Amino acid sequence: MSASIDLTTAIRSIPDYPKPGIIFRDITTLLGNAVAFRQAVDELVAPYKALGIDKVAGIEARGFILGGALAHQLGAGFVPIRKKGKLPHQTVRMAYSLEYGTDEMEIHVDALKPGEKVILTDDLIATGGTAEGAVKLIRQLGAEIVSACFVIDLPEIGGRKKLEALGVEVRTLVEFAGH
Ligand code: AMP
Repeated sequence: MSASIDLTTAIRSIPDYPKPGIIFRDITTLLGNAVAFRQAVDELVAPYKALGIDKVAGIEARGFILGGALAHQLGAGFVPIRKKGKLPHQTVRMAYSLEYGTDEMEIHVDALKPGEKVILTDDLIATGGTAEGAVKLIRQLGAEIVSACFVIDLPEIGGRKKLEALGVEVRTLVEFAGH
Protein backbone atom coordinates (compact mmCIF):
# COMPACT_ATOMS: atom_id res chain seq x y z
CA MET A 1 0.00 0.00 0.00
CA SER A 2 1.34 3.45 -0.84
CA ALA A 3 1.91 6.05 1.90
CA SER A 4 -1.05 8.22 2.71
CA ILE A 5 -1.00 11.93 1.98
CA ASP A 6 -2.13 14.80 4.22
CA LEU A 7 -5.57 15.55 2.81
CA THR A 8 -5.51 19.13 4.16
CA THR A 9 -2.87 19.91 1.52
CA ALA A 10 -5.28 18.83 -1.23
CA ILE A 11 -8.03 21.25 -0.11
CA ARG A 12 -7.88 24.85 -1.40
CA SER A 13 -8.73 27.63 1.05
CA ILE A 14 -10.24 30.81 -0.36
CA PRO A 15 -10.39 33.76 2.08
CA ASP A 16 -13.42 36.06 2.14
CA TYR A 17 -15.60 33.81 -0.05
CA PRO A 18 -18.58 33.97 -0.40
CA LYS A 19 -18.39 36.93 1.99
CA PRO A 20 -15.83 38.71 4.18
CA GLY A 21 -14.67 36.68 7.18
CA ILE A 22 -15.49 33.25 5.72
CA ILE A 23 -12.68 30.99 4.52
CA PHE A 24 -14.19 28.75 1.86
CA ARG A 25 -12.74 25.23 1.99
CA ASP A 26 -12.82 24.21 -1.66
CA ILE A 27 -12.77 20.44 -2.19
CA THR A 28 -12.73 20.66 -6.00
CA THR A 29 -8.92 20.47 -5.77
CA LEU A 30 -9.19 17.28 -3.67
CA LEU A 31 -11.72 15.78 -6.09
CA GLY A 32 -9.44 16.60 -9.02
CA ASN A 33 -6.45 14.92 -7.36
CA ALA A 34 -6.73 11.18 -8.12
CA VAL A 35 -4.63 10.11 -5.13
CA ALA A 36 -6.40 12.40 -2.66
CA PHE A 37 -9.92 11.57 -3.90
CA ARG A 38 -9.31 7.84 -3.67
CA GLN A 39 -7.73 8.15 -0.23
CA ALA A 40 -10.61 10.28 1.09
CA VAL A 41 -13.22 7.79 -0.16
CA ASP A 42 -11.25 4.80 1.16
CA GLU A 43 -10.86 6.41 4.60
CA LEU A 44 -14.53 7.38 4.76
CA VAL A 45 -15.87 3.91 3.89
CA ALA A 46 -13.40 1.75 5.83
CA PRO A 47 -15.36 1.45 9.13
CA TYR A 48 -18.67 0.86 7.32
CA LYS A 49 -17.70 -2.09 5.15
CA ALA A 50 -19.00 -4.89 7.36
CA LEU A 51 -22.11 -3.08 8.61
CA GLY A 52 -24.56 -4.07 5.88
CA ILE A 53 -25.27 -0.49 4.82
CA ASP A 54 -28.32 -0.27 2.53
CA LYS A 55 -28.12 3.34 1.33
CA VAL A 56 -25.83 6.36 1.30
CA ALA A 57 -27.66 9.70 1.46
CA GLY A 58 -25.76 12.68 0.02
CA ILE A 59 -26.55 16.35 0.58
CA GLU A 60 -26.73 18.60 -2.53
CA ALA A 61 -24.38 19.20 -4.21
CA ARG A 62 -20.90 18.14 -3.12
CA GLY A 63 -22.39 15.35 -1.01
CA PHE A 64 -23.57 13.76 -4.28
CA ILE A 65 -20.00 13.33 -5.52
CA LEU A 66 -18.75 11.74 -2.32
CA GLY A 67 -21.96 9.82 -1.75
CA GLY A 68 -21.90 8.18 -5.18
CA ALA A 69 -18.35 6.96 -4.59
CA LEU A 70 -19.14 5.73 -1.07
CA ALA A 71 -22.26 3.91 -2.24
CA HIS A 72 -20.29 2.17 -4.98
CA GLN A 73 -17.60 1.07 -2.54
CA LEU A 74 -20.18 -0.23 -0.05
CA GLY A 75 -22.40 -1.94 -2.61
CA ALA A 76 -25.20 0.33 -1.37
CA GLY A 77 -27.78 2.50 -3.12
CA PHE A 78 -27.45 6.29 -3.35
CA VAL A 79 -30.18 8.73 -2.28
CA PRO A 80 -30.08 12.49 -2.98
CA ILE A 81 -31.21 15.07 -0.44
CA ARG A 82 -31.94 18.23 -2.40
CA LYS A 83 -32.97 21.83 -2.02
CA LYS A 84 -36.73 22.20 -2.31
CA GLY A 85 -38.39 21.98 -5.70
CA LYS A 86 -35.69 19.92 -7.44
CA LEU A 87 -36.90 16.33 -6.94
CA PRO A 88 -39.54 15.21 -9.46
CA HIS A 89 -41.53 12.65 -7.43
CA GLN A 90 -43.49 13.01 -4.18
CA THR A 91 -41.23 14.26 -1.37
CA VAL A 92 -40.94 14.79 2.36
CA ARG A 93 -39.76 18.33 3.18
CA MET A 94 -37.84 19.66 6.17
CA ALA A 95 -36.87 23.18 7.21
CA TYR A 96 -33.26 23.60 8.31
CA SER A 97 -31.29 26.46 9.80
CA LEU A 98 -28.66 28.42 7.94
CA GLU A 99 -26.30 30.98 9.44
CA TYR A 100 -28.89 33.64 8.62
CA GLY A 101 -32.44 32.31 8.32
CA THR A 102 -33.79 28.98 7.17
CA ASP A 103 -34.29 27.00 3.99
CA GLU A 104 -35.98 23.70 3.10
CA MET A 105 -34.64 20.39 1.80
CA GLU A 106 -36.39 17.31 0.45
CA ILE A 107 -36.06 13.58 -0.05
CA HIS A 108 -38.23 11.34 -2.22
CA VAL A 109 -40.88 9.75 -0.04
CA ASP A 110 -39.98 6.24 -1.28
CA ALA A 111 -36.17 6.69 -1.28
CA LEU A 112 -35.70 4.86 2.02
CA LYS A 113 -37.66 2.03 3.61
CA PRO A 114 -38.27 1.68 7.34
CA GLY A 115 -35.33 -0.04 9.02
CA GLU A 116 -32.85 0.52 6.20
CA LYS A 117 -29.33 1.35 7.38
CA VAL A 118 -28.14 4.70 6.06
CA ILE A 119 -24.88 6.66 6.00
CA LEU A 120 -25.23 10.43 5.53
CA THR A 121 -22.46 12.36 3.78
CA ASP A 122 -21.44 15.88 2.77
CA ASP A 123 -18.13 17.60 2.10
CA LEU A 124 -18.06 19.76 5.24
CA ILE A 125 -19.84 20.26 8.55
CA ALA A 126 -19.94 23.78 9.97
CA THR A 127 -22.97 24.69 12.13
CA GLY A 128 -24.49 21.27 11.45
CA GLY A 129 -27.82 22.84 10.49
CA THR A 130 -27.86 21.25 7.04
CA ALA A 131 -26.91 17.80 8.33
CA GLU A 132 -29.44 18.06 11.16
CA GLY A 133 -32.22 18.63 8.62
CA ALA A 134 -31.00 15.63 6.62
CA VAL A 135 -30.94 13.41 9.73
CA LYS A 136 -34.54 14.37 10.47
CA LEU A 137 -35.65 13.55 6.92
CA ILE A 138 -33.96 10.13 7.06
CA ARG A 139 -35.57 9.36 10.40
CA GLN A 140 -38.96 10.61 9.23
CA LEU A 141 -38.92 7.85 6.60
CA GLY A 142 -38.22 5.31 9.35
CA ALA A 143 -34.67 4.53 8.27
CA GLU A 144 -31.79 4.09 10.68
CA ILE A 145 -28.94 6.58 10.48
CA VAL A 146 -25.82 4.56 11.26
CA SER A 147 -23.28 7.38 10.89
CA ALA A 148 -22.69 10.76 9.27
CA CYS A 149 -19.34 11.41 7.58
CA PHE A 150 -17.69 14.49 6.18
CA VAL A 151 -14.27 15.20 4.72
CA ILE A 152 -13.94 18.48 6.68
CA ASP A 153 -14.90 19.51 10.22
CA LEU A 154 -14.85 23.11 11.44
CA PRO A 155 -14.84 22.16 15.14
CA GLU A 156 -15.04 25.71 16.50
CA ILE A 157 -18.50 26.10 14.94
CA GLY A 158 -19.93 23.07 16.75
CA GLY A 159 -21.78 21.08 14.09
CA ARG A 160 -20.36 17.76 15.22
CA LYS A 161 -21.72 18.29 18.73
CA LYS A 162 -25.13 19.21 17.33
CA LEU A 163 -25.36 15.90 15.47
CA GLU A 164 -23.97 13.89 18.37
CA ALA A 165 -26.67 15.40 20.60
CA LEU A 166 -29.17 13.84 18.18
CA GLY A 167 -27.55 10.46 18.79
CA VAL A 168 -25.70 10.39 15.46
CA GLU A 169 -22.12 9.11 15.20
CA VAL A 170 -19.99 11.66 13.32
CA ARG A 171 -16.78 10.92 11.41
CA THR A 172 -14.58 13.50 9.73
CA LEU A 173 -11.15 13.26 8.07
CA VAL A 174 -9.58 16.70 8.54
CA GLU A 175 -10.16 19.80 10.66
CA PHE A 176 -9.66 23.50 10.02
CA ALA A 177 -9.67 26.21 12.66
CA GLY A 178 -12.10 29.11 12.44
CA HIS A 179 -15.04 29.70 10.10
P1 AMP B 1 -23.69 23.91 7.99
O1 AMP B 1 -25.16 23.66 7.76
O2 AMP B 1 -23.44 25.24 8.66
O3 AMP B 1 -23.01 22.76 8.69
O4 AMP B 1 -23.01 24.09 6.57
C1 AMP B 1 -22.68 22.98 5.82
C2 AMP B 1 -22.89 23.20 4.35
O5 AMP B 1 -22.43 24.48 3.92
C3 AMP B 1 -22.12 22.17 3.57
O6 AMP B 1 -22.93 21.72 2.48
C4 AMP B 1 -20.88 22.90 3.09
O7 AMP B 1 -20.56 22.54 1.78
C5 AMP B 1 -21.22 24.38 3.17
N1 AMP B 1 -20.20 25.17 3.89
C6 AMP B 1 -20.36 25.80 5.07
N2 AMP B 1 -19.25 26.46 5.44
C7 AMP B 1 -18.34 26.24 4.47
C8 AMP B 1 -16.95 26.64 4.27
N3 AMP B 1 -16.28 27.39 5.16
N4 AMP B 1 -16.33 26.19 3.15
C9 AMP B 1 -16.98 25.41 2.26
N5 AMP B 1 -18.27 25.01 2.39
C10 AMP B 1 -18.94 25.42 3.47
